[in-house]
Amino acid sequence: MWVRQCCRWHMKNKMKQYARLAIRSGVHLQEGQTLLIDADIHAYAFVRIAVKEAYEAGAKEVLVNYHDALLDQYAYVYESEQTLSEVHDWQVMRYLDYLKDGACRLHIISPLPQLLKDCDPNKMAVRAKAIGKAMKEVRDYTTASKVQWSIVAVPNEKWAKQVFPNESETEAMDHLWDQIFKCVYVVDTQDPLHIWEQRDALFAQRIEKLNRYACKRLHFTSELGTDLYVGLPEGHLWAGGSEIAQNQVRFNANIPTEEVFTAPHFQKVEGVVFASKPLLYSGNLIKDFSLRFSEGKVVEYHAAQGEDVLDMLLKMDEGSAYLGEVALVPYDSAISQSEILFYTTLFDENASCHLALGSAYPSCVEGGLDMSDEQLRAHGLNTSLSHVDFMFGTKEMCIMGELDDGTWIPIFEHGNFVM
Ligand code: ZN
Ligand code: ZN
Repeated sequence: MWVRQCCRWHMKNKMKQYARLAIRSGVHLQEGQTLLIDADIHAYAFVRIAVKEAYEAGAKEVLVNYHDALLDQYAYVYESEQTLSEVHDWQVMRYLDYLKDGACRLHIISPLPQLLKDCDPNKMAVRAKAIGKAMKEVRDYTTASKVQWSIVAVPNEKWAKQVFPNESETEAMDHLWDQIFKCVYVVDTQDPLHIWEQRDALFAQRIEKLNRYACKRLHFTSELGTDLYVGLPEGHLWAGGSEIAQNQVRFNANIPTEEVFTAPHFQKVEGVVFASKPLLYSGNLIKDFSLRFSEGKVVEYHAAQGEDVLDMLLKMDEGSAYLGEVALVPYDSAISQSEILFYTTLFDENASCHLALGSAYPSCVEGGLDMSDEQLRAHGLNTSLSHVDFMFGTKEMCIMGELDDGTWIPIFEHGNFVM
C-alpha cells in the first residue's frame, strides 16, 4: 500500500516537472502573457497541472480548447461532405483574436492511433482541406514563429496498449509515461530545465557547422535501398533545439526534440527513398513504402499497406507531392535507442532522419519570415496546406554533402554524425 502511494506521489511529481518544462522551456511563457492550450480530452488531468503551472509562471489568462477525436469519427460518419467543408468564422477567431494580442500556444496531445482508420478518406480529405485553408492565418503564427509555441504528449490507455500490446492497461500506461519522461529528460537526478539548456548548446554547434558548409546538395544512402539527392536552396538555414519568436522570446517548439532540419529545394530532389518506419496519417497506417522523385515531385510510389491513404496525402494540393523538410537525427539518440514505435510523429520523428511532404518552414531560408508564399516558392521553399513527416533514417544511413566547389564531405556514417 505504501509503495503504491509512494509511486503515485512520484508520478505526480514527475508530471508536475513535465508541465513545468512545457511552460517554462517549451512555450517559455512570459509574465502577463495569455496562453492558449489545445488539448486532447484524455489529457485533462495533465492539462490541469499545466494550467496551474502557467498561472504560477505569471500567465495573464489561460484558455483551453479540448478536442475529442471520437467526435471527429462521428462527424465523418454522420456529416455530409458539404458540412465538413464549412469552417465558421468564430472557429478561427477563437484563436486569432488572442494570437493577434500576443498569446502563446501549447498543444497537449494524447493520440488515439488508428481511430479514424475506417473513416471515408474523401470526407477526411475535404475536412483537412477546409481546416487547412481556414486556419492558414492561425497556422502562420506558429510556422513563422510569430509567437512562442510548443507540443507535448500525454499517454492514454488506448495509445499505451498500442505501443505495449502485451502488457495490461495499467502496466502499459506506467511504461509509456516512463518512456516519455526518459525521452524528454524528466529525470530524478537533475533539473530538466538545466538539461534542456545544455543540450541546446550541442544543437547550436551542429547548426553553426552545417550553416557554414552551406551544402548545395545532400546525398542519402541506406541499407533499405534509399539513394536520394536533396538539393538545398541558396541561403538555406539549419535549425534545431530552441528558436526565437518574433517577440524575441526563446522557446522549444517540440518536446522532445533530437533533430536539426532545414528546407530542401522543392524542385531539386532526385532518386528514391525507402521509409524506415510506418507513417500514421489521419488515423491510418502506411507501411513499407517508397517514393521516387523527379525534379522534386513524387512520380512513383508504393506501399505494402495504406497505399490509398498515401495517394490521398500526395494529392491533397499542388505542394503535397513535394518535400518541405529534411531533418537529421542520429541513430544513437535516446528515442531511437528505445526502439519503441510511438505511433506519433512528435516522438517517432526524433528517432530517425526524416523528410516531410508539404510545406517548408519559412525560417529555413534567409529573410523567409518576411516572404509571401510566391516569394518562398521562388526561393525554392515548398508551400502546401499539409506538412507530413516520414522516417527514413537507418542504422547504416550515410549522408554526404556537396560543397560549393563540388567536393563531397561526410556528414553521417553508420547512422550518426561524423562532422
Ligand atoms: Zn522534423
Ligand atoms: Zn516536420
